[in-house]
Amino acid sequence: MSKRADLEQAFQALARDGRAVIDGQRRETPTTFEDISPATGTSIATVSQCSVSDVDDAVASSRRAYDSAWSTMSSADRKARLHKLADLITANAQELALLEAMDMGKPFSDAISIDVPGSSYILNFYAEAIDKVAGEIPVTDPGNTALVQRVPLGVIGAVIPWNYPLEMAIWKIAPALAAGNTVVVKPAEQSPLSALRLAELALEADLPPGVLNVVPGDGPTTGAAVGLHGDVDVLTFTGSTEIGKKFLEYSGQSNMKQVWLECGGKSPNLVFADASNLNEAAEFAARAIFFNQGEVCSANSRLLVERAIHDEFIALLQKEVAKISLGHPLDPATTMGPLVDATQASRVERYLGLGKQDGRLVTGGSRLSIDGSDCYVEPTIFTDLSSDAAVAREEIFGPVLSVIPFDSEAEAVALANNSIYGLAASVWTSNLDRAHRVAGLLHAGTVSVNTVDALGVTTPFGGFKQSGFGRDLSLHAMEKFTGLKTTWIRFATTQP
Ligand code: ADP
Repeated sequence: MSKRADLEQAFQALARDGRAVIDGQRRETPTTFEDISPATGTSIATVSQCSVSDVDDAVASSRRAYDSAWSTMSSADRKARLHKLADLITANAQELALLEAMDMGKPFSDAISIDVPGSSYILNFYAEAIDKVAGEIPVTDPGNTALVQRVPLGVIGAVIPWNYPLEMAIWKIAPALAAGNTVVVKPAEQSPLSALRLAELALEADLPPGVLNVVPGDGPTTGAAVGLHGDVDVLTFTGSTEIGKKFLEYSGQSNMKQVWLECGGKSPNLVFADASNLNEAAEFAARAIFFNQGEVCSANSRLLVERAIHDEFIALLQKEVAKISLGHPLDPATTMGPLVDATQASRVERYLGLGKQDGRLVTGGSRLSIDGSDCYVEPTIFTDLSSDAAVAREEIFGPVLSVIPFDSEAEAVALANNSIYGLAASVWTSNLDRAHRVAGLLHAGTVSVNTVDALGVTTPFGGFKQSGFGRDLSLHAMEKFTGLKTTWIRFATTQP
């Protein structure tokens, strides 16, 4: 049997339980929905559509777990259990990667080599951090001592997107749990299965019931119920800017919960003619937009290229595109899978039409049907765009690269910053002065020089402007899930 057939068989054998996990139990809900795989266009699970009252139960359970178990547990114990969960992710890597690939379309080869090990690594990082982050004793007047501690905030609501269902959940859950909070996760309706399996693994890792609840459902019902809940202390979200703004409203309409948003992007990649290796720059530029089907919030979807090298660079990019193999996510040869669902494919298809009107199509430009699924979109490049073209301004969240030529450094920087977003940016140059100068001028949470979209667990990730605020990853992520608490102690300086 081929490797693909083996993986398909392994996937068919999985339980694929779509029921919510609340208070340590699977829950049947009266309303359910079918989870359609973009690889086949057919249902792979029946999933709970959690109601407001299911969310109430989940939050109450997480509150109990916070008060009586998790926030009072010794740091050594909490750490051991999170490490155990990380080990269980590794032990169940194939299952999690299969769920991820079939649920949202990414190649299994990426899920098993990047998403799953990355999730386990990040969990271990925050587990280790539990007893490494200490408070402060500031300078105060004689007769006074002040203790400044970072304390957990309580119940965290985490609303997760579908592009990295497991990793995005872990980016939120790991620092939140390490800091001593409990979490209610609302996975995206397109891709709930890996988060639900994670909740089961958490119970196996001896996280007390309620420490990690997972409530699948749609955004307007279940997502809104989490965002509006009066007993959720912090809401952490990754998704579109449009929905991010809704969470700010939900907070104002309810209990003024803290809201942390990691939203959209239209990240620029600036390639100057003095880049030392254009082949490498083209290879990275292609990866920066086509990896994960372009469904990456920090994808470098705008390529600003110096006019003198424009044609040469486009030719190099075409060579890179020719190496991409579009196909079924479980086929080992696949390097780009289907988009997450037909709705997203239609959305991207609309942009393909707009790009053809406003610019010149270099390669791709079509939606395709493969294996009976019409969720595939070819890797596509448009050039000769003006910066006000829709494909050059709006987040497409698909494999579409918009190229804008520039003539000077100042123009490149102005074009790059002319966006409502400010998540990431990349710069290619061999001129050290220019690298520092341009990196300093770019409005982006992360600037990558002579690489693209660089990130790691030790560095903060997040944006400026309408890309949101608050940082995932690094020890800074724990700041979102803790509050600064000051305790003053006055004492006599002389013995009475
Ligand atoms: P995308 O555009 O990538 O699909 P969204 O911002 O629509 O991203 O979705 C990200 C997450 O927000 C998902 O879990 C989704 O269910 C949730 N969501 C969508 N709409 C709403 C809403 N009106 N209220 C609360 N949550 C929502």
